Amino acid sequence: MEALKKYDMYINGEWTASSDGQYFESFNPATGQPWCYVAQGTSEDVERAVKAADNAFYNKDWADMTYTKRGHLLRKLGDLLSENVEELAEFETRDNGKLIREMKAQLTYMPEFFYYYAGLADKIQGETLPIDKKDMFVFSEREPLGVVVAITPWNSPLYLTFIKLAPALIAGNTIVIKPSEHSSASLLEFTKLIEKAGFPPGVVNIVTGFGADIGDSLTSHPFVSRVAFTGGEKTARNIVRNSAENFAQLSLELGGKSPNIVFDDANLYNAAMGTIAGIFGATGQSCVAGSRLFLHQKIYDEFMDILVSRVEKIKIGDPMSADSEIGPVATLNQLESIERYVETGLDEGGKLLLGGKRPEHMKEGWYFEPTIFEHTEHNGCITKEEIFGPVLSVMPFSEEEEVIKLANSTDYGLAAGIWTNDIGRGHRLSKRLRAGIVWVNTYRSISPIAPIGGSKLSGYGREGGLESVHDYTQKKTVWINTSSAPMSDPFIIR
Ligand code: NAD
Repeated sequence: MEALKKYDMYINGEWTASSDGQYFESFNPATGQPWCYVAQGTSEDVERAVKAADNAFYNKDWADMTYTKRGHLLRKLGDLLSENVEELAEFETRDNGKLIREMKAQLTYMPEFFYYYAGLADKIQGETLPIDKKDMFVFSEREPLGVVVAITPWNSPLYLTFIKLAPALIAGNTIVIKPSEHSSASLLEFTKLIEKAGFPPGVVNIVTGFGADIGDSLTSHPFVSRVAFTGGEKTARNIVRNSAENFAQLSLELGGKSPNIVFDDANLYNAAMGTIAGIFGATGQSCVAGSRLFLHQKIYDEFMDILVSRVEKIKIGDPMSADSEIGPVATLNQLESIERYVETGLDEGGKLLLGGKRPEHMKEGWYFEPTIFEHTEHNGCITKEEIFGPVLSVMPFSEEEEVIKLANSTDYGLAAGIWTNDIGRGHRLSKRLRAGIVWVNTYRSISPIAPIGGSKLSGYGREGGLESVHDYTQKKTVWINTSSAPMSDPFIIR
């Protein structure tokens, strides 16, 4: 049997084993079999990585590098990414089961994140202040924070790294990235491109391993100034608690139970395709999954015919095949959790219209059929909790006010979709829905220019857009006394 590939970590510009030489297996969800080993980081490795990042932050190779030069480096990284889309797509597909067609499309677009932030490099500027004191010249400048920690989940390891890495670096920070233990390989492959681009040693460090082993030492480390986290609620609570140790600033991108609302005047075909994109794209393992579908009762039957007939034709298959439309879920744990939710949905009286089980034709791997539940009321666990799998809950409504209330009756506040041809209604609802992202007549659209993030249990902070660069900086105010006159009374404020 062929030996499994082995990945080391990347600390201070060098590939390194963990301090105790341990590796763990990473699984291919399409086969359920291990396909590579990844270095199992320890607290000692965290210490090495954070120290390397801290040293690099003060080292002149990075600290004195002009913003323009940093922009060139980031652009180069974007170019290298463009040249390596095929290979990286395959690594991510093998490691987390995401469709190769989605990965190729995603990674073909991803260089734009690096180009966008590279373009902002020389626009990270301060202000002169029209100060109300005589003989004083006062200005502010934006400076980097220091060491940033980025922690990502398994569902989109590269994209969710890029949206942190690009603004953090362009602002002049250094970074330690911890990918999910379930999907580290694509980032480690991408790290070879970071190396090739020519970033000074220690500016980007990757520590792999289990959150339970190294998460605390990473997020509570006194040298860490900011933690950019994407993942689950429980981990987020822990990170918030740890921030009481080092007062690290946080951005928390967590889960959702996002509503997709279809009005009777909508283009029903597009709305059905948007619904499928929202909940069955990425096998439902998306923070913005449109897992609650609210249908206006006038079009309920017509819409369901369109939706169900397309969902029945969805091709479940090997994510490496270009024609597969649903691949496996990323972990066996996740598959079993989805199964438990389906049982709960049935126990609660939901009507199972489609799916609800593992597909018979895919014996190996961790596949689950696209699943649709119909509910007459918006209550019960599966209409409230994030399932993070291909399970859609459908509910009828008749009035605009009613659906706004239903859509907002969730502990989350991440995303929402509205399908209508009434432009006024599109605007009205966008304002009233409690969600950080609202899509009208589209779903799952992304761009580096448009921030993402949520409120309530979906977390706080935004990633992407101009704001994001500012979040990786802090303002410094500089006062210059332009007068040479003797100082007067030293015991009063000036
Ligand atoms: P998770 O919280 O278990 O793991 C996420 C990351 O945190 C992993 O790298 C893990 O190793 C690390 N981690 C675990 N324990 C830690 C600790 N004590 N300290 C520090 N780090 C620790 O989440 P998951 O199961 O990998 O991902 C699924 C969740 O992520 C879902 O809730 C989903 O909605 C959310 N998510 C959100 C977004 C978004 O942008 N809002 C995007 C994707 C996924």
